[in-house]
Amino acid sequence: MSDTAVYLDHAASAPLRLEAREAMLPFLDGRFGNPSSIHRFGREARAALEEARARLARVIGASPSEILFTRAGTEADNLAVLGRARLSPGSPVAVSAVEHKAVLASAHAAEDEGSPFILLPVDENGVVRLDGVDAALEAGPAVLSVMWANNEVGVLQPVGEVGARCRAAGVAFHTDAVQALGKVPVRVDEAGVDLLALSAHKVGGPKGVGALYVRRGTRLHPLLFGGGQERGMRPGTEDVAGAAGFAAAAEAAEAERETAMARVSALRDRLEAGLRDAVSGLVVNGAGAARLPTISNVSVPGADPEALLMGLDLEGIAVSSGSACSSGAVEPSHVLTAMGIPAALAGPSIRFSLGWTTTDAEIARALDIFPRVAARVR
Ligand code: PLP
Repeated sequence: MSDTAVYLDHAASAPLRLEAREAMLPFLDGRFGNPSSIHRFGREARAALEEARARLARVIGASPSEILFTRAGTEADNLAVLGRARLSPGSPVAVSAVEHKAVLASAHAAEDEGSPFILLPVDENGVVRLDGVDAALEAGPAVLSVMWANNEVGVLQPVGEVGARCRAAGVAFHTDAVQALGKVPVRVDEAGVDLLALSAHKVGGPKGVGALYVRRGTRLHPLLFGGGQERGMRPGTEDVAGAAGFAAAAEAAEAERETAMARVSALRDRLEAGLRDAVSGLVVNGAGAARLPTISNVSVPGADPEALLMGLDLEGIAVSSGSACSSGAVEPSHVLTAMGIPAALAGPSIRFSLGWTTTDAEIARALDIFPRVAARVR
C-alpha cells in the first residue's frame, strides 16, 4: 500500500480520533480495575464507565440509564431485534428491505424461532414506503426496524414519521443509527424511537464497541446470560476503555458535525459532478432522496466490478464494492436490488465514503484516477 493512498471508505471504519485514543489510554494501562469491584480500583473504573455513559447519552439526548454498552453495533442491533422478538414469541418482526445484515439476519433468526418475518418495501431511492409500514403495523409486530441512514447508498429514512406511526400503534420502533451519528443530528427525543443502535468505530472510536439506547419502559429479553452488568441486558465485564473512547469520539464528532459535514458535503458534490462528467453512463444511486453528506454510491454500466475495485486499490484509492462476492460469483447488493436497480447496474457499483479527514487533494486524486480505471475495465 502506498503512503499516499486515498482512504474513501469511512463508512467501513473511520480513523481513531485523538480524543478517543487519549480517553482510552489510562484504562488500557494503570486504571485496569473491574467496574463491579467494590474497592478503589473498581470504583475508579465504575466512575469512568458511568461518565462515558452520561456523555454518550447527552450526545443523543437520552438519559444515562437508557444507554447499554454492547460489543459493537452488530450486537446492539441483534439485542434490539431478537431481544424484542423473544419477549413476545410468535409476534412478527418487521424490518426494511435495506437494513444492514445485523438487523436482517437477526429478523431471520427470530423467524427461525417462530416470529413471522415482514419485509418493508422501499421506493426507487431506497426510502421505506410508509404504506408498507402502516400495513406491517396492523400485524402487531414485536418490533419494527427502519435504519436512520443506509450504509451503502447513504439514503436517510423518515424516522420521525415511522416513529410517530409506531407510537400510535403501540409498537416498539428500532432504528440503526450506526451510519448517521456524527453526520446528521441524531436525537432520540426528537425522533420518537424506542431503540437505537450505535457503533463507536464509525465515528472515530474503537472497533468492537457499540451501544443500544433503550427508551425507559421498553422491555427486552437479554441475548447473553451471566452477571448483572448493563442492567442484566448485556452481562460480561464492561470494556471501560472502549466506552470512554466511544464517548470521547461521539462528543468530538458531534461538536464538529456542522462545520465538518458542510465541508464534506461540498467535497462529495464535487466528486459526483466530476465523475458524472468524466464517466459516460455513470449513475449515482439513491440521488433522488435526502442522503448523508458522506456517501456516494455509483454504478458504472459495463464495468467488471472486481476489476474496478482492484484497479482502484492498485492506484491507491480505497473504496468499497457495492456488490458482494460469494462463491466466485458477484452478487448485487440487497440494497440496490430492493431499490429495483437491475443487476447490470447494481453489480458494477462502488461506494465512496468520505469523512472528517477527507481533503480537497484526495477528491482531486480520485477524480483523476477513477475515470481512467473505469475506462480500462469496461
Ligand atoms: N449497522 C450499520 C448500518 C452498519 O453500517 C454497520 C457496520 O458496517 C453495523 C450496523 C455494524 O456495526 P459494527 O461494525 O460495530 O458491528
